[in-house]
Amino acid sequence: MAQEVDRPTYQVGGKLQRSDERDNVFAREALLPGSPEEIEYHSRHPDLVNVDRRLAKHFFGTLPGHSRSRSCSAGEALPESVFGSVAALALPDVVDGPVAAQKAGIDPVQMARTIKAIARQLRASLVRIGPLNPAWVYSHRGVWPFFDDYPPNPPAFDGVPAGYQGLEYGDPIEIEHRYAISMGFPQTPALIGTSPSRLSSFEIGRVYAASALVAVELARYIRALGYPARAHHLRNYGVLLVPVAVDAGLGEIGRCGYVINKALGTNFRLACVTTDLPLAVDKPVDLGVQDFCEKCQKCAHNCPGRAIPVGDKVEVRGVRRWQIDAEKCLLYWGSQGAACAVCQVVCPWSKPSAMLHKLVAEIATRIPAARRFLVKADDWVYGATYKRSPAPDWALNQCDLNSSRSGE
Ligand code: SF4
Ligand code: SF4
Repeated sequence: MAQEVDRPTYQVGGKLQRSDERDNVFAREALLPGSPEEIEYHSRHPDLVNVDRRLAKHFFGTLPGHSRSRSCSAGEALPESVFGSVAALALPDVVDGPVAAQKAGIDPVQMARTIKAIARQLRASLVRIGPLNPAWVYSHRGVWPFFDDYPPNPPAFDGVPAGYQGLEYGDPIEIEHRYAISMGFPQTPALIGTSPSRLSSFEIGRVYAASALVAVELARYIRALGYPARAHHLRNYGVLLVPVAVDAGLGEIGRCGYVINKALGTNFRLACVTTDLPLAVDKPVDLGVQDFCEKCQKCAHNCPGRAIPVGDKVEVRGVRRWQIDAEKCLLYWGSQGAACAVCQVVCPWSKPSAMLHKLVAEIATRIPAARRFLVKADDWVYGATYKRSPAPDWALNQCDLNSSRSGE
């Protein structure tokens, strides 16, 4: 059972400030050097030029069709298969669209049950509904693929359709929906455990692609009922998914920056739908994660990019939380030519779903005095140091699954 509480467990230390998506490392790595967007951004942030050039070097080195790209080997083709398809689900008239003229009559309690049932049927493992705090809406659009003539644009992309706002780089984003439906999608432990590798990149992309489709489908369902709804997924976020999910009670923010869920730990990816469909909301939860992470630090000690703090929380746009160094994290991904998920794998909350793990999660939630022992016990059982899992048999013919590339 989730331990529901009235307020989320993150501490609000000051006035909440909206995040500008252009400041996100994934937006900055995708700034094409010399492009109008890059010149404008770095005129405002000259201190970031050098690190962003290093990020961009890795990013553009992976794009097919770009002058600096290399041919796509068998291993590289795996992540390309799943990440490439998500872009098509990010087009503005796919994440959003016209709303049916006739509004269906709605009982918010019954409708919340129906929405959760449909989301699960569409293959979301976790689904909870929260109020949408306007502070979690991005202030400006920052992430590709909505630049003209841009290599990562989806196939057949011929520009942002007229009438859509908030979807081109630098556009202000205004989303006034009242509710957010947060969904979680588990990653396969055997694949994510090969991290960082082409296989872990493939698995992360596979889950993001699946989550994008579910979010798009659920938003379409709601619009067909006569209510506005917008999907948010990997390639087209309008809101910060982590605090939105925490407000809905999907879990708590951990030291590693991911949401920790009682059943899946950190081993899942998020998508969400914001809407004005009247819905009964869920409460946030207190699983004891804040105290557990104080005692644990396993992700920080194992992070190969040295990106996770061992120290205290800091204030980030009004919220006190552990803040990872996203530049170090992404530079590490770039140095490996693959997505890393070591912090997700080693987290004691992320262990495979079994009776024992459920029992341990229950004890960790309910008995604060047991947490220090459980941290130690996780080291005894699973090891204190991350060990990469072997690739499964079907992947062994992908010759360069674990190859690193230098460039730093
Ligand atoms: S993804 Fe890898 S590099 Fe990034 S914070 Fe997690 S463990 Fe560190
Ligand atoms: S590994 Fe430990 S410190 Fe890191 S998020 Fe998980 S519980 Fe928290």
